[in-house]
This record gives sequence, C-alpha cells and structure tokens, in this order.
Amino acid sequence: MSRVLIIGCGGVAGVAIAKCCQNSDVFSEICIASRTKSKCDAVMEKLQPTTKTKITTAQVNADNVEELVSLIKEYQPDAVLNVALPYQDLTIMDACVATGVDYIDTANYEAEDTEDPEWRAIYEKRCKEEGFTAYFDYSWQWAYKKKFEDAGITAILGTGFDPGVTSVYSAYALKHYFDEIHTIDILDCNGGDHGYPFATNFNPEINLREVSAMGSYWEDGHWVEVEPMSIKREYDFPQVGEKDMYLLHHEEIESLAKNIPGIKRIRFFMTFGQSYLTHMKCLENVGMLGTAPIDFEGQQIVPIQFLKALLPDPASLGPRTVGKTNIGCIFTGVKDGKEKTIYIYNVCDHQECFKEVGSQAISYTTGVPAMIGTMMVVTGQWKKPGVFNVEEFDPDPYMEALNKWGLPWVVDENPQVVE
Ligand code: NDP
Repeated sequence: MSRVLIIGCGGVAGVAIAKCCQNSDVFSEICIASRTKSKCDAVMEKLQPTTKTKITTAQVNADNVEELVSLIKEYQPDAVLNVALPYQDLTIMDACVATGVDYIDTANYEAEDTEDPEWRAIYEKRCKEEGFTAYFDYSWQWAYKKKFEDAGITAILGTGFDPGVTSVYSAYALKHYFDEIHTIDILDCNGGDHGYPFATNFNPEINLREVSAMGSYWEDGHWVEVEPMSIKREYDFPQVGEKDMYLLHHEEIESLAKNIPGIKRIRFFMTFGQSYLTHMKCLENVGMLGTAPIDFEGQQIVPIQFLKALLPDPASLGPRTVGKTNIGCIFTGVKDGKEKTIYIYNVCDHQECFKEVGSQAISYTTGVPAMIGTMMVVTGQWKKPGVFNVEEFDPDPYMEALNKWGLPWVVDENPQVVE
C-alpha cells in the first residue's frame, strides 16, 4: 500500500499511471500533478472507474521548488515519480530533499536554455573534461548524492526503457551470465509506422535534441565522439526484420561505464528511416532545432518549441501506429574462462499497447518501467539513502516484474553481433 505523487501527464505518464492503476495492491493512492490540470482530470475520469487506486489531481509548475514543496507537504506521498521533462529534474529533486521523500525519474537533467551563461560555463568545462558534448549528462544529479544520503532518502535515476530496462539487463547479464562483461551494444529499434511524414515518438523537443547531438561511444576508458549519424550498421531484428541503425550518444552509456567493472566498449544504436533523417537534417539546416530564444515580430520564441507546437503530439500516435519495437542489449565477455555472447531484448507491439492502455509502444516501453522502478522503491526492494542508477540494484525483482507487467524479455545465447 503506498501513496505516490506523479508529476507530468504526457505520453509516458499516461502509461505509468495506467500501470499503477492495474497494480492497486502496491499503488493504493496516486496524485497526478502537472502544468495543465485538465489533462490530469481527463486521465483520472477515464481510469478511476476501472481501478481500486484512489486518484486525485493537482496543478503544479514543476520549475518552481516552493510550489512543489507545498504540494508534497499537502499530499504526503511515499515517493515522487517525475515523468515531466528532464528540465524539471533538479527542482523536483530539491523539493524531495526539502520534504524527505524518495525520487524516481526516467531521463537525466538537461538545461532548457542552452545559452544561459551560468549553465554554459559548466557545460563547456564538462565537454573538455569528459569528452562528450551532449546537452544532457548525469553530473548534475549525481551531485545530489550527499543531500539524499543526509536526508535518508533514495533517488532512482533513469527507469524508462533506455535508460532503465537496458541498464537492468546489464546488471542481470553480469549477475547470471558473465564473470566480466567486455562490450555492450544497446540496440533500439522502432519498426512502427504512424503514417505521418514526420513525427517523434516522445516529446519532440527532447527527442530532436537527442538525435541531432554528436554521436559518441565509450572505449578503453574514454569517450570517442563522432559526427551525428556518421556510423551506420544494418541489423536483422527478431520479429521486426532488417533495419538501418545509427550510433548515437545515449545517457546510460555514462552510468554503465562507471558501474560495469572491466567494461571495454559501450555503444548505442537507434534505427531511423531515410525519410526521418532527411526531414531532421532539413529542419536543422534552417534553424528549427535551435534551443535558444530568437526575436520574432517583437516576441521571444524558441525554434524547437515552436516546431513542437506544429508536430503531432506523441500521445496522439497510439491509434495509428502499427508494427513492433525491439529494444535490447548484446553483451560479450567471459564466463569460467570462456568467451560468450548473449542478447537480451524485448519485443513490443504498438497495437497491443494501444488496446491495453491507449498508447503506442514507445510510451508503453517507458511508462511500464517507470511504474516498476517506483514499485521497487515503495515496496522497499530498492531502497537505500543516496542517488543511484538502476543497474546499481539487484536486477532480479525488476526482471521478474517486467515479465509480469507487459514487457517480457528473451535471452538469445547465439545472436547476430554488430561489427
Ligand atoms: P510529454 O511532452 O508527452 O509530457 C511531458 C509532461 O510534463 C506534460 O504533461 C507537460 O505538461 C508536463 N510538464 C512540462 N513542463 C512542466 C512543468 N514545468 N511543470 C509541470 N508539468 C510540466 O513527454 P513524454 O511523456 O514523451 O516524456 C516524459 C519523460 O520521459 C521525458 O523526460 C522524456 O525524456 C522521458 N523519456 C524517457 C525514455 C526512456 O526510455 N528512458 C523514453 C521516452 C521518454 P503540459 O501537458 O502542460 O505540456
């Protein structure tokens, strides 16, 4: 029995909330709080008749620590699940420290205004020291470790699919299949089709920032950075088929490089069709992916936010998306002195997800692990003071929950490898 405050009410939140409502024994009460309260009310009206979980709603501006603190004090949750945007990670963590409540999220901190001089100075120093230039990184949230320890509360970072499930797969592979893992290739394939010429599967602003960033991978103790989309491979994905995939920088590489002892290389690949890449390049070339405000007829607008307003809402793609996703990790390493390779992956069908919770598979594959990560904390299975990535806990109860709550996984001990 627990009481959880869920912040954000978009595509991912919609699934996390639906899953909490299916799991009323654990989530006896939830409060959905977001910037636009009407969206929270609509979700509550749809789900309340179907569940024993008691749902309430609230309006909150999660950029404002005081507002968050007073909401947390009023609702008195056991944990806060942040499924708003990465821009709100630090304010929500501040509010959790101030009120002594556990914190869970699905994406690492990213600054909204990348031209802010204070943020920029720290960012540029980090680029030089660490060797990768993505706008998002874990340093901001890892810096809260002592605050969470002193407050005696837990923060779980990145319990979506990737990061999240891919990181738990890594801990599971290490625990059950290897003495030492040497390489991890994370493969994220969306074989779905929504029928639009161009749309993103989750928040367009965050998604386009991620995929237009320089690519990078971890090798022999340091980052190797490459031009965006400059490394391409083909892979024959089980239940989806042959796809082109491209190397991207991705946030779990940063934490896995620290937490998997003896790791020599970690890469992340995502599939994209040629049409998506052409649209994105064109939007980038004309400045539509800009993250700094510009003056437009006397008004300040941020190009990528304006673009978001024009693109289809990812939460609306559910009814029209067909096909499957396949996301997983290929591990190589040694066990009992012998080299071995395994592939752990999940296949998820867009239409099946829509039938179950009214969402496409990208929101589903993120929202289910968001619920599971929260369940690990509120049931005390993953609970210790500090700030942690998901691979730092025992993977077994989480892996079991994935099978139970809609994201069953497969272990292939003789997979195709990526060159
Ligand atoms: P959406 O844009 O659909 O939803 C974001 C929600 O946050 C909206 O309800 C929005 O409110 C709310 N919000 C935004 N700003 C504020 C604010 N200042 N105060 C209160 N609420 C706010 O995003 P998604 O659901 O697609 O993504 C949610 C999160 O999941 C993101 O952090 C994303 O990076 C992460 N993600 C993680 C993945 C993983 O595998 N780890 C994969 C996909 C996504 P409003 O309705 O008013 O706009």
